[in-house]
Amino acid sequence: MSKNNVLDMIVEIPKGSSNKYEVDAKTGRIILDRVLYGANFYPGEYGMVENTLDWDGDPLDVISLCTYPTMPGVQVSVRILGSIKMIDAGEIDTKLFGVFNDDPRFSSYEKLEDVPQHLRDEIENFFLQYKALQKKSVKINGWGTLEEAIEELHECKERFAEYKDRLEAGERDLILAEWKEKGIGQG
Ligand SMILES: [Mg+2]
Repeated sequence: MSKNNVLDMIVEIPKGSSNKYEVDAKTGRIILDRVLYGANFYPGEYGMVENTLDWDGDPLDVISLCTYPTMPGVQVSVRILGSIKMIDAGEIDTKLFGVFNDDPRFSSYEKLEDVPQHLRDEIENFFLQYKALQKKSVKINGWGTLEEAIEELHECKERFAEYKDRLEAGERDLILAEWKEKGIGQG
């Protein structure tokens, strides 16, 4: 990271897509996890931060405003502005939120308040709705400030370092079960 709120996102899903692609942790291949059940599409570029671990057992998610969609697998420099405090199926599943750092159209966006309210509403509404036809519950506990987002990033980096060996040993599901039993990382 050049500045402490600029990070590298690996794009999994380009803006406008209804295909939910994920980078496979083992092979690095881009896998089609599913096609969204409803007529929904990602309202921003969606991806993850490498070498992080969130409470859902996956790398920390990022959604970023962009002008033109890129492609799955592309590394993009994202300037983080805040976060969306999402709970997915009872697990904490925060999304960092930002803008493409190298798109001059977003050069004046430095904090959450610089983003037009409607764009934020649209993103929030997308996450509240995108699993509706799967009958899965998603909750959003509001937006986090830039400081909270940076804190989240550091926590997810530390968690990855702590569990790296076990993840490599294929214990992801076991780790999730342990967290659930202890009641940590649940929303
Ligand atoms: Mg996640």
